[in-house]
Amino acid sequence: MKPVDRHLADILATVRPLAPLEVEIESALGAVLAEDVASPVPLPPFDNSAMDGYAVRAGDVAAVPVTLPVIGDVAAGDGGLNALGPGLVTRIMTGAPLPAGADAVVPVEWTDGGTARVRIDRPAPPGNAIRRAGEDVRAGDVVLREGARIGPAQIGILAGVGRRRVLVRPRPRVVVLSTGAELSEPGTPLGAGHIWESNSFMLAAAVREAGAEGFRAGSVTDDPKEFMDTLDAQLLRADAVITSGGVSMGAYEPVKEALSPLGTVTFEKVAMQPGMPQGFGVVGPDRVPIFTLPGNPVSSFVSFVLFVKPALRTMQGLPAGPPATVRATVTAPVRSPAGKRSYLRAVLTGETVAPVAGQGSHQLAALATANALIVVPEDETSLPEGAEVEVIPL
Ligand code: AMP
Ligand code: MG
Repeated sequence: MKPVDRHLADILATVRPLAPLEVEIESALGAVLAEDVASPVPLPPFDNSAMDGYAVRAGDVAAVPVTLPVIGDVAAGDGGLNALGPGLVTRIMTGAPLPAGADAVVPVEWTDGGTARVRIDRPAPPGNAIRRAGEDVRAGDVVLREGARIGPAQIGILAGVGRRRVLVRPRPRVVVLSTGAELSEPGTPLGAGHIWESNSFMLAAAVREAGAEGFRAGSVTDDPKEFMDTLDAQLLRADAVITSGGVSMGAYEPVKEALSPLGTVTFEKVAMQPGMPQGFGVVGPDRVPIFTLPGNPVSSFVSFVLFVKPALRTMQGLPAGPPATVRATVTAPVRSPAGKRSYLRAVLTGETVAPVAGQGSHQLAALATANALIVVPEDETSLPEGAEVEVIPL
């Protein structure tokens, strides 16, 4: 059987970062920057007032109370200001440029608020309530680096440095296709021998949570031709494809039957539980990566975490590797088949981790109560209560 780490390494050696694309900043949420972004100007671009108040020469308000003539107003957005002479003040609003000659702002709360003359009751030291040009960003400073994930604050600073468009790696478009003659759409009645189809919903959501775009292509029956026709139609809009089911050892394995003859997708047994039957390769003229995951819901979920999620990071130009782990103490004995790495569903609370009841690979309800996977190495078949284990937080 193929080791888990080698299967991931093969996948990461095949997938490539998506080509960068220039987009409007409004459309950049969730994408990954494909350029360093520098500011063409200092931010703030000019010295300005941090408060509503009066622009003064600090020396004129060193001894208080003092009453001084108000020569006018400076509002936010004003340009071409006159210099402020000695013994004079001007009203000034938050964000308004500081007139030449002024070197402090007296907040309105320290005054009687006068408009022709103002009485100032507290001295303002030089520099008081002034935001200096460049104190956030100097001209030419890089404000965002290539590889940064773009969230709301990053969109804010892109606009703040005057950018309208930006070069990103787009969110990969991932099509999720389930197979199984026994699958009924949720929301429709359950026929005899049927179950409601859950994997395409779960996997499309996992794709979105991983920062990519997940599209459900629904499910097809166990007819290899129907599978292939649906796949062909979906390839047009896909940067990657995930299938579920139809890759194990039984009869009626449409994914394996349809893709094996192509020679570009490899079906293997990976030394893990759940999730042993795995397939990966490329399909179509654009050589779109395809992950053919096993159909058991817990198996396909764990396979996504171990293999697909890192691949989606590579496609987004992000560093990728095995999922991050923490160490914790297990609250109950655990068992694991020899020669396979187990991923047991568990609840992680602080430094302890409790396996959930129901470790079958079909037990989706148990998975839905878990927030972590306990990793039991290939050479361990049992671990006692209190053992220190490696845990993947979900
Ligand atoms: P397969 O990998 O196709 O042999 O399926 C393994 C098990 O997973 C079977 O019990 C299937 O009924 C179940 N299964 C397969 N696909 C899905 C799906 N999309 N949603 C829920 N269960 C599924
Ligand atoms: Mg099946």
